[in-house]
Amino acid sequence: QNQWFMNALPIIETIEKHGYQAFFVGGCVRDLLSGRPIGDIDITTSAKPEVIQELFDKVIPVGIEHGTVIVRYNQVSYEVTTFRSEGEYSDNRHPDEVTFIDELDKDLERRDFTINALAMNKDGEIIDLFGGQEDIQQKIIRTVGNASERFKEDALRMIRALRFSSQLGFRIHSNTLKQMTTLRSDIQHLAVERIEKECAKLFAGDYVSYGVNYLEQTEIYRYLPVFSKYPILIEKVNPDLNPLLSFGECIAYFHLLLPDVTVKEWIKSWKCSNQLLREANEIVTAYHQYNNIGLDNWLVYNLETDFYEGFVRVSNLMGNNRKVSLDNLFKLQNELPIQSRKMLAINGNDLVALFPDAKKGPWLQKLLRDIEKAVVYREVPNSKQEIKEWIRCNPPVIN
Ligand code: ATP
Ligand code: MG
Repeated sequence: QNQWFMNALPIIETIEKHGYQAFFVGGCVRDLLSGRPIGDIDITTSAKPEVIQELFDKVIPVGIEHGTVIVRYNQVSYEVTTFRSEGEYSDNRHPDEVTFIDELDKDLERRDFTINALAMNKDGEIIDLFGGQEDIQQKIIRTVGNASERFKEDALRMIRALRFSSQLGFRIHSNTLKQMTTLRSDIQHLAVERIEKECAKLFAGDYVSYGVNYLEQTEIYRYLPVFSKYPILIEKVNPDLNPLLSFGECIAYFHLLLPDVTVKEWIKSWKCSNQLLREANEIVTAYHQYNNIGLDNWLVYNLETDFYEGFVRVSNLMGNNRKVSLDNLFKLQNELPIQSRKMLAINGNDLVALFPDAKKGPWLQKLLRDIEKAVVYREVPNSKQEIKEWIRCNPPVIN
C-alpha cells in the first residue's frame, strides 16, 4: 500500500525543490489511515497549474480553470491541484469563482468531510485540522464546518455522504444527517450526471445497505430521478442488498423490481450512456430467460461476457432459490458450438442464393437468427450442408 505513495514521492520532491509546497490529500490519505486499498493518489500544491506544466514532461490539462492537471509519471496518472478556496455559491452547485491561494489551510477547509480533509507531507506527517483522524477511528462522516452551510453550497455533498457511508461502512454524524434531511430537496437542482456518478458508487459500495438505509431514512430518494416518481420502489429494494458494481446492473435490478418503469425510461431520466443501456437490457433479457427456461446455451450465447458477473449479481439478488454461479456460465460458454454469428457456417449471402426469387426482407434476419439458435442448441451441426438440409425441413415464411 505504501508503495503507491513511494511511487509518487518524486513528484512532491520535485515541486518542493522548486520552492513550492505539495501534499498528498483527500481520499488517498483517508484510505491509507483506514486500511483500505488506495484508488488513486491526489496531490495538492501551492504551485499554479502553469508551473506544474513546466516542471513535468507529461502534463494533461484536464481542468486548468479549477487548478487541476494530470501528471503522468512512470505510467501512472496523478491529479495535481493547486490550493484553492472557493468563492460564493449562488446556485447550490458550482462556486462562482475559484481563487488560488498559497496556504494549505483554506484548501482543506473547502473540502466536504473531515475524513476527506486530511493531508500528508512527504515524511508521512498528517495535517488534520478538523478531527478527520478521530472520525476515521470512530467511523463517522461529518462535514467540515457548518453542515447546513456546506450542503447549501453544494447539494451533491449530501449524496456523497451516502456514498462514503456505503463505501466505508461509516455512520453519518447526527447533525450532518439532520441537515441532509432538512435540505434534501436542493438535490433536484443538481446536474443528473453528477448524481449518477455518486449513486453508482453508492450502490457499488461494500456496505451498500448503510447507504440505502440512509437514503430511505433521510428520504433523499424522493429527489432522485425515477425514485421521485415511483417512491414505492425504495421499499422493494432488498434489505440485504449486495453491491452492484455498475449502474447498468442497478437499472436492470430496479426495472426487475418494478417493471412499470422501462429500462429506456431509467436511461433517459438518469441521462445514462448507450453502453449502460445495452448492459441493462442484456441483463434483463438474460434474467427473463433464466427465470422462464433456466440457464442454457442460448442465454450464455447472447449475453456479452463482460456482463456475466453483473447478471449473476442481479439474478442472485432477485431472490431466486436457485443460485446462479459464474462458473456455470463460463462452463456453458466454453462448450458452445459457436461463440458468435460470424462463426456460423452459413451467411446472409448464402441464404439469398438459396431463395433466388425472394426479395430481401425481415425474413432473412429471422432465418439467420433461427439457424443461429438451432446451431447453438445443437439441433443442427454447424456445417453448410447440414444447415441447408435443416432449412429444407424448416422453410422460412418469406415476407
Ligand atoms: P474516491 O476514492 O472514491 O475517488 P475521493 O475522496 O478521492 O474518493 P473524489 O470525488 O475523487 O473522492 O474527490 C477528491 C477529494 O476532493 C475529496 O476527498 C474531497 O476532499 C474533495 N471533494 C470532492 N468533491 C467535493 C465536493 N463536492 N465538495 C467539497 N469537496 C469535495
Ligand atoms: Mg478520487
